[in-house]
Amino acid sequence: MPVFDRILWYHFPMLTLYNDLTNKKEVFEPLDPPRVTMYNCGPTVYHYAHIGNLRSFVFADTLRRALESNGYTVDQVINITDVGHLTGDTNDTGADKIEAQAKRENKTAEEIAQFYTDAFLCDLDHLGIDRNTIRFPMATAHIDQQIELIEQLEKKGVTYATDDGIYFDTSAAENYPKLGTIQASGLQAGARVEENKQKRQPADFALWKFSKTKTQQSEKRLQEWNSPWGVGFPGWHLECSAMAIQYLGETIDIHTGGIDLEFPHHANEIAQSECATGKPFARYWLHSEHLNLKGAKMAKSDGNIITLQDLIQDGIHPLSYRYWLLTAHYRSPITFDPEAVLGTQRALERLKTQLDQLPQKDTEGNTKTDTVVPEAYLIKITEAINDDLDTPTLTALIWETLKDTELTGIAERYTVEYILDLLGIDLADFSGRESIGITELPPEVAELAQERENARASKDFDRADKLRADIKQAGYEIHDTETGPEFTHV
Ligand code: AMP
Ligand code: ZN
Repeated sequence: MPVFDRILWYHFPMLTLYNDLTNKKEVFEPLDPPRVTMYNCGPTVYHYAHIGNLRSFVFADTLRRALESNGYTVDQVINITDVGHLTGDTNDTGADKIEAQAKRENKTAEEIAQFYTDAFLCDLDHLGIDRNTIRFPMATAHIDQQIELIEQLEKKGVTYATDDGIYFDTSAAENYPKLGTIQASGLQAGARVEENKQKRQPADFALWKFSKTKTQQSEKRLQEWNSPWGVGFPGWHLECSAMAIQYLGETIDIHTGGIDLEFPHHANEIAQSECATGKPFARYWLHSEHLNLKGAKMAKSDGNIITLQDLIQDGIHPLSYRYWLLTAHYRSPITFDPEAVLGTQRALERLKTQLDQLPQKDTEGNTKTDTVVPEAYLIKITEAINDDLDTPTLTALIWETLKDTELTGIAERYTVEYILDLLGIDLADFSGRESIGITELPPEVAELAQERENARASKDFDRADKLRADIKQAGYEIHDTETGPEFTHV
């Protein structure tokens, strides 16, 4: 896939990424090229991932593809949070999400974590994300590393004990918080409602929480471990520092997550990692914006969620969803709109039909992207992807390519396929539900459909069912939607 050697170096647009650490677009240069180390904050596996969560992984995968097209090899880690993520995650209070779900489902914490991890990996498969190229370490499998990190911090004198755990003293961290200063000032302002009165600063966070506090003999936890400080479990932020350092090194190139993780999660990862190692933790911090639903952030804890399986059941192919996401820039919030995604799906169906009609080989039998895609297009494509992942321009470029009368069929085919590959859209097995509007039906079928609508309106459901069968006999399946019936070929 690298196009590096196809474009003359003085034409080659450098890869620039918006770095939230410096609040500007910067030319990307890894520490040790061609290797790029990338850590993406992963899911808390107490429930199915929702399609908002999945936006952050589609973003990470698109970034990986951009890096690879620039000739880099990517060492990618996505952690699985299976302990320590509390419902009150901004101030380390509340129930552990995994434990609470285990109780609700009457299962062990491990069973919950395993079940939802498997579901998550399955979602990644559906979205065209190659899980075999990624490592997925689990927090509970790295308790020793997390305890060691706390010991390192303890030696530096930046921790202290309260009745409910061991805390990190944020006043000891240089320039705290390095991310999310606005949200941090909000925490300062809200400090009066802080529950743990023993904390020195409102932003101080738990590294280790005790299962039983001195004042509160809480129920025995499902997941708890011995530590030099007492039986308990690691704080939520700690796992990411410990596992990023273990798998990718003390200084990593890229760290990503959804925008809500900027503060406190990422600010705290930076503070504890840099205090422990004395080195910069991650060099480029990228955050993807939220997916909203009816004006509010889609969130598991608020119950306003849609899963990928919900989409599939509604006839939306996961790749239609991926493509729709990429028609927006990753730094723009978007609102989920099923009609818009279905519109995207129809466009992809038409695209597949068009591509199938284009030749596969040129007169010399060349089929490869690097010999067939015109240089002018390679430059346009690289300019877009290298401009902080300008995927909206890339999606528009697909349709532009197909309209370009100067291009040969083979050039059109491979230019479009090259863009689709960068976007992670493989249309080989794509068959969305190709909807046909009532006006596009043959007149005799449209008439039957109208009769069925009348039968339904007068609540004559037997007749409606009979008409549905007749319509099927004529080769069309009916799908009743909020906006009226839609049809597909049987
Ligand atoms: P969680 O499973 O809650 O730990 O979150 C996994 C990832 O999804 C994190 O990177 C979050 O920032 C991200 N995320 C959570 N909610 C949304 C949303 N509504 N839209 C986009 N990303 C989200
Ligand atoms: Zn994290």
